[in-house]
Parts: sequence; structure tokens; C-alpha cells
Amino acid sequence: MASETTSGSLLTVLDAEHPEWRPLLLLLKEALREAERPQWARFVPALAPPGRSDRPLLDGAVINVAPRLVGRWVRHILGVAAAAGTEVEPIARRITTGRFDPLLFFESAVAQDVDRFHEVALVDRDDHGLLRGLASLIAMPMLQSCRRAWAERVPTDWAYGYCPICGGWPALAEVRGLDGARHLRCGCCGGDWRTEWLRCPFCGEGDHEKLGSLVSPDKLERETIEVCDGCRGYVKTVTTLSPIRPEHVVLQDLATLVLDIAALERGYRRPSAKRHEVLVSVVAASSGLRDLFGL
Ligand SMILES: [Zn+2]
Ligand SMILES: [Zn+2]
Repeated sequence: MASETTSGSLLTVLDAEHPEWRPLLLLLKEALREAERPQWARFVPALAPPGRSDRPLLDGAVINVAPRLVGRWVRHILGVAAAAGTEVEPIARRITTGRFDPLLFFESAVAQDVDRFHEVALVDRDDHGLLRGLASLIAMPMLQSCRRAWAERVPTDWAYGYCPICGGWPALAEVRGLDGARHLRCGCCGGDWRTEWLRCPFCGEGDHEKLGSLVSPDKLERETIEVCDGCRGYVKTVTTLSPIRPEHVVLQDLATLVLDIAALERGYRRPSAKRHEVLVSVVAASSGLRDLFGL
């Protein structure tokens, strides 16, 4: 898929090819549309003072946000999810009846703290990973706005497998351009960071005896799966001429689902927990600030 394609046309293609994904595509469309709203950019936090060199930029951030903006967005996406027939209806009802705080919900989503997200949502088990997926979508407008504001601040020598902006694991890797540089890409914020060829992003393994690749039979070598026998993790790798647009990483991740299935069938997996814990505080912006922004 060409990098200049719009998100709308990519969604249309995916919808035509996979009508069974319609509920998920509907949610993604809402999250990408929300991420375009300029209001979020106004609440991108100031960067925390530089600390340890392995800390993502988001770590330690204090986000002063208008509760109305967050409340509207959380209610909206839960409403769309419930209408699409997913199992979030009880959670949506708790939010609308004021039984838990959208700001806390949002805070744990932005920090990608899945355990806390479950706790705040008063859910014991998440059998289908539904809440985890929902957490990424809820966080997406804020994280994409942070990435737009901070992209130039990403250290060029970032040597870790997790996203230098939000701390998430990469959704995929890109082998880019004529020189074939390898970049890791974050689906949640759209982050982009260069990485070594022979290095597992998850456990840092660099021994070529433990690293390998599975080639997708129908795609020749344009799409491969890099696997690590040290941690049994895998990362999908796509060859591109120019960078995948940040907002499209999440769609490309979905469009290459066949590679996930191939990797899972061979016993590899994507780690679910983040390697680097990210601490984020979300606080209600003062009413003066809200008036200034017309919120
Ligand atoms: Zn990220
Ligand atoms: Zn590994």
C-alpha cells in the first residue's frame, strides 16, 4: 500500500477484503478521526527533564487535560464499541452512570498499564484481549499528538526495542528505502526509530544463531517475520520505499495479520507487557486554561 494513501481509503480496502473486521475497523476509524482533532495537541505535556537514557519521552509526563474532552471521547468510543456488538456494554454503562472516572480510565490507557486499566474498568478477566485493544484506541489521540510534537526530540541513537516516545512495543519493522535501513514502528503513537539488523527488539538478543526469519510464501520477500529463539518473540517486517505514515502503522499492522497467524502457528508471539514501565499522571486542567481553549 502506498504511503500517501489516505487512512480513509486504506480502511475502505480493509473493509472490502475483510468484512468480518468491520466492528474493529469502525473503532479504528473513530480513533484516527479523533487523533486529527486539534484540541488534543493543546494538551501535549511539557517534556519531563531528561533522566535515564532508556526512558521513553512520555515517562514522567503530567498531562493537564480538559475532563470534558476526555469524558466525551471515552464515552464516544465505548458507545461505538457497544453499538458494534462488542462486550464493552457493561463498562460503557458504568461510565455513563458515573461509577468510574473517565480520567483514571484514560490515564491507565495512555500509560498502557493493562493491569490498572482492568482494575479501573472493574473487570477481572479480559478473555479476548478486548480491553487491551480498547486501551490503545482510547490512548491514540493523545499519543499521536505527543508524537507529532516530540518526533524531533527522539534521540537518534535510541538503542532499545520499545518506542522512544510512548514505550510501546513495535507493531512492525520497516526495511526502508534504497539503503534498506531497518526501522521499528509503533502502532499506538506512530513512532519511528532506527534499529540494528540483527537484534531482537524484545530481549535484545544479537546472536545470529538465535535469530531467523520466516518468509511469507505469497509475498516473496517483501514481507517477512523476524523471529527470536531467545524469547520466542517475532516482529513483522515490511519493505517500503518511503516511511509508512505514522497514522497508518496501526492499519498496516492489521493488513499484515496473515503474518501474525503464520508466526503464532510456529509458536512465536508478541510480548503483551511493556519492557519499560511508563508513569503518566493525568490531571484536570484548571478552569482558566479550559476557558482559554474554549473547552
Ligand atoms: Zn509509541
Ligand atoms: Zn528475543
